[in-house]
Amino acid sequence: MLNYFDHAATSPMSAKAIESYVRAAHDFPLNPSSIHTGGILAHKALEEARKKVSSILGIREDEVIFTSGATEAISMVFSSLLWQKNPGRVLISRVEHDAVKSFIPLLKEKGWDVVTLRAKKGFVNPEDVRNALNENTRLVSVMNVNNVNGAIEDIPAIASVIREYEKSIKHKILFFSDSVQALAKTDLDLDGSGVDAASFSAHKIKGPRGVGMLYLRNRNAIRPLAGAGGQEGGLRGGTENLASIISFASALEDAYEKREEKEERVRKLSERIKESILETGLELNSEGNVSPYIINISTPLPSEVFTRMLDDRGFAISSGSACSNNAKKGENIIEAMGYGNKRARSSVRISLSDETEEDEVDALIKAIKEITRGI
Ligand code: PLP
Repeated sequence: MLNYFDHAATSPMSAKAIESYVRAAHDFPLNPSSIHTGGILAHKALEEARKKVSSILGIREDEVIFTSGATEAISMVFSSLLWQKNPGRVLISRVEHDAVKSFIPLLKEKGWDVVTLRAKKGFVNPEDVRNALNENTRLVSVMNVNNVNGAIEDIPAIASVIREYEKSIKHKILFFSDSVQALAKTDLDLDGSGVDAASFSAHKIKGPRGVGMLYLRNRNAIRPLAGAGGQEGGLRGGTENLASIISFASALEDAYEKREEKEERVRKLSERIKESILETGLELNSEGNVSPYIINISTPLPSEVFTRMLDDRGFAISSGSACSNNAKKGENIIEAMGYGNKRARSSVRISLSDETEEDEVDALIKAIKEITRGI
C-alpha cells in the first residue's frame, strides 16, 4: 500500500497471510473441539500453528494462548486481579496503551493500590520500579516498545529488579509486558528477558485483525475471563478462530525471515526521516533507544490538522496523541513522557513497515517540508 505510514496502528495483511487464511478456511472448516475426523484435522492444524509460533519465539507450546488480540490478552491478565479477595499493589507505567490503562480505575475501585511509574521520554527507570515495590505488590506492567514514540524499555533490567525483590517476600510478582509493537520488530527474547506474561496482535505484523496471543509462563497465574468450552487449556474458552490463527503463524514466519536485515533497512529509512525532521526545524519526540519502526514528531500545527494536510497529499500517518483516535479522553502519552502540553497537542506518529520503500520516504519528507514551509 503506497504512502502508508501508519503501520503501528495496523498493517494491511500480506498476500501470504491472506492466502494462508483462505487455504485454512477451506481445508479446516470444522470445529477443532469436535471428535469427528474433520474436527481432529482442525485440532491438528491448530496445534501445528501453536508449534510454529512457539518455535519462532523460542518458547514452550503451552505458553502460547491464542486470543482475539492484545486487548483480550491484556484483559485476561488484569481482570484476574479484579477477582482476588485481597487487593494488593500494582505498578503500571504511565505510558501504557489504553488497553492496560483502562484497568486503573477498575483496580482502584476494587481497593487495589495502583502506583503509576513515570517514564521520561518513554523510558521507565528500573530504579523507580525498585523503589515502588513493596511486599503487597502482585503485578508490574511495563510495555516493551511504546506504541506512541517507539521507546524500547529495558525489560531485562526491570525483570531483574523484580526477581531480586521477590527473594525478600513470600509470593511471586507477575511481570507483564505488553509487547505488541516489539513482535518481529526487535530482538524479542521472551524466555530470556524475565517476563511472565506478554500480549501480541497479529495485525501489527501483516496478519489478520481479531487474533493475537497471550504469552503466559505459568498457567496458574491467571483466572480465565471465560473458561466455558475448555479451549486453550481452559484459559480462553470459545471456538477458536482457526483460519486467523493459522494465518497469524504464517505472518509471523514471514516477518521473522531475514528479520534483522529488514530492521536494518528500516533503521536507515528512519534515520533519513529523523534527519530531515530536524533540518526542517520540527521536534523529534523519539529519542534514545527507540524502535526504528516508530517516529514521533511535533510540528507547529495541531496534530489533527497536520495529519489531515498530509492525508490531502495522499500520506497516511497518525495523530500521535492516541493509538486509537477514539481514545481522546485520558492523559496524552507524549505529555506523560514529559514533552509538555504544547508539544503533545501537535505530535504526530509516522510508522514504517519492512516493506516501506525509499521513494515513499522521500515523497513523505518532501510533503512535510512543503507543509512546513507554508505555515
Ligand atoms: N498495545 C499496544 C502497544 C498497541 O499498539 C495496541 C494496538 O493499538 C494494543 C495494545 C491493542 O491491540 P488490539 O487493538 O489489536 O487488541
